[in-house]
Amino acid sequence: MTHAVLERPDLKSLFNILQKAGYTTIAPTVRDNVITYENVTDQSELPIGMTDDQKNGSYRLKKRKDKSVFGFVVGPQSWKKFLYPARLKLWEAHRNGKSFSIAKPENEEKKLAFIGVRPCEMSAISIQDKVFLKSTFVDSAYSSRREQLFTVIVNCTEPGGTCFCTSMDTGPRAKKDYDLALTEVVKKDQHYFLVEIGSDQGKEIANKLPLKEASEEQVSEADKRLNEAARKMGKALKTDGVKDLLYENAENPHWEKVAERCMTCANCTMVCPTCFCSTMEDSTDLSGEIAERWRTWDSCFTMDFSYVHGGSIRNSSSARYRQWLTHKLGSWQDQFGTSGCVGCGRCITWCPVGIDITEEIKTLQECDSRKSKSN
Ligand code: SF4
Ligand code: SF4
Repeated sequence: MTHAVLERPDLKSLFNILQKAGYTTIAPTVRDNVITYENVTDQSELPIGMTDDQKNGSYRLKKRKDKSVFGFVVGPQSWKKFLYPARLKLWEAHRNGKSFSIAKPENEEKKLAFIGVRPCEMSAISIQDKVFLKSTFVDSAYSSRREQLFTVIVNCTEPGGTCFCTSMDTGPRAKKDYDLALTEVVKKDQHYFLVEIGSDQGKEIANKLPLKEASEEQVSEADKRLNEAARKMGKALKTDGVKDLLYENAENPHWEKVAERCMTCANCTMVCPTCFCSTMEDSTDLSGEIAERWRTWDSCFTMDFSYVHGGSIRNSSSARYRQWLTHKLGSWQDQFGTSGCVGCGRCITWCPVGIDITEEIKTLQECDSRKSKSN
């Protein structure tokens, strides 16, 4: 079977089969008026018939006219909260008389199956793989979660108002790194998922699903929707030469213009699926018997993040925004051989003042200081 189809009523079997294989199933669901990723045990908990309206600094959930299961894009949280938790105990020390012993917490890592991962988000996971697994040091906490992960992609047929995955070559169709990929088609009396297999584990699960051979018409309908989605992106970013643009414009007055709007709230880094800055916190109990070290998410937008003896290196908003953008789209390429942005649009939607990474790059391209030097 080259292409297979899972009929809508059979989506429940995907959850059942993964659970029987020992996976905890994590999927989108509605909570606090947003779509978030939680432990979802049954397909009925998915955001059926819901969509999200996203603009700069704005997110609204709305009802759809149809019963699409994955008819929305991405919410404020990404899958990184499971692979790279916001707070993680690294070790604890116990006093033994005049000595002490160090113990690592015994994390019982569950086998996780992510259902409903968008192609841009799969690219974000692959980028974090480079950071945590393929750099000089391997992050053991990330590695133990990632090794057991099963991913079910849902390709995007309706991009949101702040999406630009086409510009970043990360969507709307997943190309690699997944176990199973679905494309949802809702059409008159038809509602099905075109299924593609991306790995041996994916094949193993697919073999247990009640799949049917896809007709040519079903395959071409899914293709048509994905091609249309690529043309309907809410935003676009011209990536040619962006690294040099950022390196050569460190002193551009435009950074001060952004700083007039940026509140350095760090929202953009918290919602970003690739940002990975962290800090360490040590604490002791009141008796002085137990000490703990925790790793927590941090952000390059905080003053403390660049604090060295005597003060912060980046003590202005303009320096901190410049650092974030230059790392994300420029020096990330030197460090990890990839852009640090996958075009998910979260930082645009969740910036309280609607600062837009695509617009800031466009403005820098227009007022590139190299132009004035060459005149
Ligand atoms: S760019 Fe927006 S989200 Fe990011 S720190 Fe500034 S105000 Fe906050
Ligand atoms: S920088 Fe913004 S658009 Fe790019 S991956 Fe991060 S949140 Fe998404």
